[in-house]
Amino acid sequence: MTIAMMIEVMAGKSAAVHGLVHDATPFRFDEENTAIDYFGKLLEHAGYNYYGTERMYSGVDGREMNADIFFGIVHYQRLRHMVSDKWQVRSTGPVDLLTRQPIKGRRRGGGVRFGEMERDALLSHGCSYLLQDRLFHCSDKISTSICQSCGTLLGPVTEIASLSYEKSTKCRLCGNEESIKSIEVPYIFKYLVTQLASCNINIKLAFNKV
Ligand SMILES: [Zn+2]
Repeated sequence: MTIAMMIEVMAGKSAAVHGLVHDATPFRFDEENTAIDYFGKLLEHAGYNYYGTERMYSGVDGREMNADIFFGIVHYQRLRHMVSDKWQVRSTGPVDLLTRQPIKGRRRGGGVRFGEMERDALLSHGCSYLLQDRLFHCSDKISTSICQSCGTLLGPVTEIASLSYEKSTKCRLCGNEESIKSIEVPYIFKYLVTQLASCNINIKLAFNKV
């Protein structure tokens, strides 16, 4: 990716044609005595182009290509990072017990973290359905009860009548039975509401009348 690699290509080629082992110590060359000139002259001496280019022939029709192509040999090490070892995919899957949010880690079937910066990127593109999918449907969506009259998630309780076994839901804060509705929220929001309740802070949700 750097100019040094291009010079390395010229060094490799000149070493191969002359049977040399080059000294790769840094600062061997300077502005007056450049590496390109040194290796270029070596290549020229062996009958190659001074700049390390070669003429090539088309593999399709055998015609000489009208271009000078930089050509040579380098030593390189292949990294053992393979796509097949790294790919990750998740729709829904295992979740954390406390937060009910997706766990991390490829081996455990977790996802790649979709953090605040990723959220901001999608926001700036207006991808609201994708955001809804990643941060809600594929994350910690729950269906829970809410009392519309006092706006609390913590009020609704289900009671079973001791004689008839009939289920009834009512709000333990205001005692209202008709105001209990079902709502879909991220579980972490309910978790926040309960955590704040332990600090004596109540969260009241306001509703727009449709
Ligand atoms: Zn209530």
